[in-house]
Formats: sequence, C-alpha cells, structure tokens
Amino acid sequence: MAAQPPAGHARRAPGELTITGTLQREAWLQRVMPPVEQLDADLWSIPVPIPDNPLRYVSVYAFATGAGLVLIDTGWDSEESWQALVGGLASIGAGLTDVRGVLVTHMHFDHIGLAGRVRQASGGWVALHPADAAALARPDYRSAEGTVAREKEFLQALGASAEEAAAVVGTAEQWARFTGVALPDRTLEDGELADVPGWKIRALHTPGHTPGHLCFVDERSRRLFSGDHVLPRITPNISVQRADPVGPLDDYLRSLAKVRDLDVDEVLPAHEWRFKGLAERVDAIAAHHEHRLAELLAVIRRQPGTTPWQLAGHLTWSRPWEQYGGQMRVFAVTETAAHVHQLERRGLVTGSGSGTPTYTATAQPDLGPPAQAIV
Ligand SMILES: [Zn+2]
Repeated sequence: MAAQPPAGHARRAPGELTITGTLQREAWLQRVMPPVEQLDADLWSIPVPIPDNPLRYVSVYAFATGAGLVLIDTGWDSEESWQALVGGLASIGAGLTDVRGVLVTHMHFDHIGLAGRVRQASGGWVALHPADAAALARPDYRSAEGTVAREKEFLQALGASAEEAAAVVGTAEQWARFTGVALPDRTLEDGELADVPGWKIRALHTPGHTPGHLCFVDERSRRLFSGDHVLPRITPNISVQRADPVGPLDDYLRSLAKVRDLDVDEVLPAHEWRFKGLAERVDAIAAHHEHRLAELLAVIRRQPGTTPWQLAGHLTWSRPWEQYGGQMRVFAVTETAAHVHQLERRGLVTGSGSGTPTYTATAQPDLGPPAQAIV
C-alpha cells in the first residue's frame, strides 16, 4: 500500500479525487469485503454484501446518539446480508435492540431491503423522502403481477414490442420478493434535520437516481453521506421509471449542482469508497452526461423518427449490445430515454407525441462531431 499523506496535508491535482476509504479501495482490488471501520468516536461504517451484484456491498453508517443507534441504509434483503449487518453491529458492541431508527437514502432494494426486518427486531422507525415513499406505496409496486403488467406497458411506450417487453421484464415470481419492501413510518423533507440526538444531520433532497433520493450532511463534522447520488468510480443509473417517466436527468443534473459546493470535507457514499473532492467528482459526472447527450443527439440526427428502445442499440456501451438482456437492457433503454427527454427539454429533439413517441432532431447549427462516449 502506498503511504498516505498526513491528515490535513492531502494534495490532489485538479480534477482528481483523494481516496480516504483506503481500506475499502484495497479490499475492492483484492475482491474481498472491506472491514467494519470506526470513522469517529461515535460513527462507524458497516459493509453489507449484495449477493451476486457487481456493486458488491452497501456501506451502512451507524451513529451513536446516547439514546441508541441511528443507521443510514440497511442493505439488501438476504440472509447473508442480514448476518453481515447483525455481525457488524455486534463488532461495535451493539445489537439490533439498540437501533432507534433508520434513515433510508432511497427506495432501492440494496438500501431499504432490510429496513423492515431491522424495524421488527428493534422497534425503531424508518424514514424516507415522501416521493420515494409514494412510489413504494403505489399498488403496482406492491404486487408482482402489477409490476410485471405495468413494466411491460411502460417498455412498450418506449418502443419495445409486446414480445420484447415480456422477454426482458421477467416473471411475477421473480418480482415477488421486491413487492414487500417496508413502507416508512416517517418522511423526511428537503432541509429537515433528522432525528439523530446529539448530531446535526440535515436531509438534502437530491432527485434523479430515484424521485426521492436523499443525501445527508453532518454539519458538525462536515461529512456528506451521498447515498448513490455521488459515487467515486461509477455513475448512478439515471433512468425514466414508472414513478418518474419524464425528467430524471434534468432532476439529477440540478441535484448535482445542489451538492457541488457544499461545505463538506469528505464524501461517504453508499457504495465503493470514501473520498475527498466533491466538486471535482460532480463535474466529472455532469461531463459524462453531456458527452452522452452529444452522442445520442448525433445518433438521432442519423436516425430520425426513432424510439428509445431502438436508439439504445445505437449507443456505445461497455459490452456488445447483444449481451444486454433482461434488466440490463431495461436499464440501458430507460437511461437512453432519460437522455432523450433531456434533449427534448433543451429543444434539440422533438417527440412525435403519439402513444409510442419517436424522436427527431430539430434543425440546429452544426455542433461539431460528438464527444467520445464514456460508459
Ligand atoms: Zn445502491
């Protein structure tokens, strides 16, 4: 391991991040789980594995409050994940009955999955932003058959045939486990102080990855708990979804700008590793989406009158397009649709407006060759 510069003397070149979660990064390279880490006198990070997923783990953060623990996120709902969470709490001298509440960054299963089980074992509360709470409460999110039916309709509206939609959505049995996710006891609005006694943890609504994504700022120690909004290595999936079919990329770019200049010293994301250099990372992620928008606009100019389903196959992806099946293809198409809507919002393309809209570039001055795609 390379020697780290002494604390407070870290230097980085413009545009570079300083990795502060060096043990997390080292574990990543060795393909093992990182350790539970004590980050402050009363703050820990507990890695909870996500089985068979390239993200590998969620970092659950635990705050000691003097009146029990408050967690940020819980992990994927599996027995392996549960054992890791319970074992992690035990390793810091705590148990589930010490948990007084859970702040959930967003509605995805790797973050909220175990919240119901934690609530049952602890009697604590679960808090989520109202927009994600409303999405989770929709009847089609509470029923596997409803999810499959609505998801097929949704993909057909993006240009899939009935057969193509059925092939990638999967079966009600596959969706069943995702429909029983805990609904929150409490909601947290933008700017609200969370119920973490002795701390000053402020919720920041950062929609984009989901409609109700929350980041949390610890105003005492100047830490940003960024959830999936800002990650050090990968960019979060920004997709149109049934709960937010139009503007997620516009929301996301605004949410990036909202956190860019926060007065924080360190970023503690839900995946990968802790780092310094928030503004640099925000700029890099925003630039990625601008490159992607330019690439997509060039494709739409060459192929006017195309659906997002078709357009996705013409973009550059990290693997050959034919290998994108199932949920990976859904993400590729819904992410493409999010970018199409952003081009439309900027007046660069227009939709045909019918049940399955197709998109055509508007007459614009030549902007030059598209920037190279970053995937
Ligand atoms: Zn996640």
